[in-house]
Amino acid sequence: MQPINFYTFVHDTVAEKNDAQLEYLFFNIFTPEIASLTRRRVNVIFTRDTPGITDFNYRSYEKNYRTIDSFAEAITADIKTAVTAYMTEHQRTAKKTDVYIFLIDGHLMPSMLVEGLAIPEANIAFATTFGRTVVAHEVGHLFGATHDDVALYRDTEHNNPYHCATFMATDRPDGVCAIFGYSGETRAIITQHFK
Ligand SMILES: [Zn+2]
Repeated sequence: MQPINFYTFVHDTVAEKNDAQLEYLFFNIFTPEIASLTRRRVNVIFTRDTPGITDFNYRSYEKNYRTIDSFAEAITADIKTAVTAYMTEHQRTAKKTDVYIFLIDGHLMPSMLVEGLAIPEANIAFATTFGRTVVAHEVGHLFGATHDDVALYRDTEHNNPYHCATFMATDRPDGVCAIFGYSGETRAIITQHFK
């Protein structure tokens, strides 16, 4: 079986310059679960300093597109063009198992507090480093997952009165913990996606 490759473009403006640290913080929390669900090897490949890709001017879109829908439509079209050019240059064809992630610092769209964007038809996602679970969340969307309710898990061992949120949860209230895992429903979707 083909391995799952997370081709990760680190934007030139990302403060963390250590790839191992990025992998530890944002990938190691979910890639073992993906590997176990799909029974595939998972590779994380970091790429930096690539003109046309890692200098992609995502901050410019907010000025011209004021709604999330128009913003998403415009940035989706342009990032698909950029990735297609990159793939052609590197003689790669599109594969279900090849994922392209654009890692950024801060918000993708600050006025709307957008932390990431998944483009499932192209296997491309943007994700911020400001939040441990954003990469895992956007990858979940690429693999067919939708949003979970927040309350999916209770930390009985520590008698935590709050429920914890899985990777696909949204609107996690302050003080509610994040569990580093996908819900049962999402796990079934991801397994099916790679069958
Ligand atoms: Zn989402």
